[in-house]
Amino acid sequence: MSSLEIKNLHVTIGEKEIVKGLSLQISSGEVHAIMGPNGTGKSTLAMVIAGHPDYVVTSGDVLLDGKSVLAMEADERARSGLFLAFQYPSEIPGVSIANFMRAAVQARMAEGEELDATSYYKRLYAKMDMLKIDRKFTARSVNEGFSGGEKKRCEILQMAMLEPKFALMDETDSGLDIDALRIVAEGVNALRGPGLGVLLITHYQRLLNYIIPDFVHVMYAGRIVKSGDKSLALELEAKGYDWVKKEFALANP
Ligand code: ADP
Ligand code: MG
Repeated sequence: MSSLEIKNLHVTIGEKEIVKGLSLQISSGEVHAIMGPNGTGKSTLAMVIAGHPDYVVTSGDVLLDGKSVLAMEADERARSGLFLAFQYPSEIPGVSIANFMRAAVQARMAEGEELDATSYYKRLYAKMDMLKIDRKFTARSVNEGFSGGEKKRCEILQMAMLEPKFALMDETDSGLDIDALRIVAEGVNALRGPGLGVLLITHYQRLLNYIIPDFVHVMYAGRIVKSGDKSLALELEAKGYDWVKKEFALANP
């Protein structure tokens, strides 16, 4: 059983404070969704947990199994079990998915340990079968000329191979048509289980029809202003975010 604990986190970019005292706790086996209007700091939160160097934590902490990750570099955090699926995955021309994934798996092994090619491919193909991904897919260059759905599939396959303790998924649904959305949801649902915690960041309720969250949080003005179960997502879908903003303004005159 693992835990990811965000404690009264404050984050600035340049001079501007973006995350303003955000607290959230996730245990393995749980799926948490964070929803909120654009520009509210959702991506900033994901980036800062993953260890992006541009974002400065001015106070608070992020604890993985009780241990602060803030002093760790991004790769060290990945080795500790954090995974970030990007909102806009990069293209890496000339590098096949199979080789990219192999390097990623190798990078997570202890120094001096060699990845066995046979067992690597066995594992890769098993994960691809589970996610219903065609074998031919791994010969293509990472994300080069991929459709939105294929890019997301590639992210999910990475997640399956790296077996993180916690996956942060930033607007994995953005720009996807309904078929691609289903692919993402099926992938996440296939990986869902007692060993994985998921933080799903999304602007729209749509994705949550396919990935049913255990908890839904509303982020506004750099903090969590409301938490509930999946019915909160439906309420937001029906009423929009204006009432959240009004409530916040009343509570913070
Ligand atoms: P969300 O994901 O909720 O839409 P973001 O975390 O992307 O919100 O952005 C929150 C705020 O931080 C916005 O006002 C945005 O303009 C600002 N911001 C995000 N990234 C940067 C950056 N690299 N440099 C300067 N400002 C940024
Ligand atoms: Mg964002």
